[in-house]
Amino acid sequence: MVDSIPHKGLKFDENWRHSAMLSPSHSWRFDSHTRDQLNTMASSSTLVLPLGSTEQHGHHLPVSVDATVVTHLAEAAVAQASSQIPVLLLPTLRFGFAQHHLPFGGTVSLRSETYVNVLTDIVVGLASQGFRRLIFLNGHGGNESPMHLVVDSIASQNKIDIHIAAASYWKIAQDSLLTLDFGDATVPGHAGHFETSLMMAIAPELVELKNRPDDQGKKQPLGLADIPLAHIRRPGLWETSDGRTDDSHLASAQTGAKLISDMTGVISKFIVQFHHSAL
Ligand SMILES: [Zn+2]
Repeated sequence: MVDSIPHKGLKFDENWRHSAMLSPSHSWRFDSHTRDQLNTMASSSTLVLPLGSTEQHGHHLPVSVDATVVTHLAEAAVAQASSQIPVLLLPTLRFGFAQHHLPFGGTVSLRSETYVNVLTDIVVGLASQGFRRLIFLNGHGGNESPMHLVVDSIASQNKIDIHIAAASYWKIAQDSLLTLDFGDATVPGHAGHFETSLMMAIAPELVELKNRPDDQGKKQPLGLADIPLAHIRRPGLWETSDGRTDDSHLASAQTGAKLISDMTGVISKFIVQFHHSAL
């Protein structure tokens, strides 16, 4: 009997973990179910697959940033959406297309062809098991182009019977981000004000503030605007910077918490809207 498990004597942390175990949250975790349960839920559920990356994030942030942030947002948004629709959160894909970070170290990357094949295999396999709705919730800019290619290819070439939505979390939440003041910071940028604030709120123990470069306010080459609407890249562009887009001295846990709260609400609505619009 779950109710008979004693709570007394547990420290706060243990109590929290204990109540998390008892909560119905496991019902939206794909990998907490048996195959029989998943087969039963397949045709009626929307799947959410967070797309992360394991890559350098400057001197002061861990290489997990993109995976950590997108997982946190996905868990919170799916938990909210699960009160309205059948939704299942897949384990985060923690490797992405991050070749441009390899020169800095601390990076695990898949070539774009490999990444396209990985995403395609995941979708085709899930569709063959009866799943009909899937969202790629992306947390890394480098994943965007291959992700879109996969969606277009599956619809036009493979003709798999599944609805797919593909979006980066900062684009889903674009309207709410525009209401906030980030000063000169690049949003979302890379290893700057935005991501540092998010990590200070989500995992402060992993943020090494003392290692931030001492160049407050100085624009990094990567943070300078491209010609509007043009996608401009050249060999060595990233190496002209120290691997980040903008300064993070104004970053704060309060900003991060506000961002998480706002974006969670918007992403949750997006998941529910997609569920009702698909099939
Ligand atoms: Zn990042």
